[in-house]
Amino acid sequence: MLSARTVLTRTARLSNARLNSTLVVAEHDETKLAPITLNAITAAGKLGNDVSVLVTGANAQKVAEQVAKVNGVKRVLVAQDDKLKNNLPERVAPVVLASQKQFNFSAITAGSSAFGRGLIPRVAAKLDVSSISDITQVHSADSFTRTLYAGNAVKKVKSSAAVKLLTFRGTAFEPAKEGGSGAVEKAPSADIATDTSEFLGQELSKSERPDLATAKIVVSGGRGLKSGDNFKLIYELADKLGAGVGASRAAVDAGYVPNDMQVGQTGKIVAPELYIAIGISGAIQHLAGMKDSKTIVAINKDPDAPIFQVADIGLKADLFKAVPELTAALK
Ligand code: FAD
Repeated sequence: MLSARTVLTRTARLSNARLNSTLVVAEHDETKLAPITLNAITAAGKLGNDVSVLVTGANAQKVAEQVAKVNGVKRVLVAQDDKLKNNLPERVAPVVLASQKQFNFSAITAGSSAFGRGLIPRVAAKLDVSSISDITQVHSADSFTRTLYAGNAVKKVKSSAAVKLLTFRGTAFEPAKEGGSGAVEKAPSADIATDTSEFLGQELSKSERPDLATAKIVVSGGRGLKSGDNFKLIYELADKLGAGVGASRAAVDAGYVPNDMQVGQTGKIVAPELYIAIGISGAIQHLAGMKDSKTIVAINKDPDAPIFQVADIGLKADLFKAVPELTAALK
């Protein structure tokens, strides 16, 4: 039989556990939330706890209000401070740690982007636990599937850490939709050191085309295009389809296109509804960045090109003939 004291202790533990919540650290540009945070909120919801979101920045309040409307978000913590402008991981980490101290989250998470990958391991080190990156499936609160070698291998892992530090691969989870009404409150104050890192600037490429990482259709070109000028065939087709434009690393290395267009292991990971690979052989490092696309179309003159093994629709043809024909047919 349980003594009254034991029952009381258990009740206290249970209510403490119920207060536990998963924290998602939001990524944004001071005006709008990055789409990957919506994927991370969906993934965080699968851990079985309430979802809280921390929004840090010099203009965090506006983004916090957007986050509060996301389905499944119970609480939004806002840390608005000029020191947090551009959300340098060195400066966001103390805010996450202060929030952890106050709320005792059972998991601290973010999207697997440069932001999440810079922040989460840093927080993990401070909490003396390991972080798990690039999660593609959540099986339970402590068991996950993650990708290794940029998606060419998967591994199921179990974590016994008291607090799980996780990053989620955006393309593996649906974005959370609108429909929530989370409470917005101030994040606990933190000591943010400003002498260890400084934001010097960033160069963002501007494009009228949809963002490669989130476009529903992506048209990518490879070394088969033979020159940067010939990439206009890819742009014309993409513009007809309202698509984002990607490239293989060989095309980037040859200087045909800038490197922010690279898809693959060392480039962007995409999973659009439709991926059209043109003059791309289908090296494993390229496949790592696009093989989760819903429908893959390949145009290649070599019938043995490995891209045809993953393609749903393959066209063995000379791209210089087939692509203009395809673009014209879409008129
Ligand atoms: P190629 O392999 O040269 O293929 C060109 C294709 O075009 C061929 O299949 C050919 O049949 C076809 N072709 C040629 N002419 C025509 C025509 N007229 N009509 C139709 N088809 C034609 N690669 C990436 O893409 N992304 C990465 O992130 C990446 N990361 C890497 C990381 C590491 C560590 C390493 C070692 C490699 C990485 N690579 C990456 C490089 C990768 O191994 C390949 O070299 C690269 O993907 C090849 O690019 P490609 O398919 O455009 O070129």
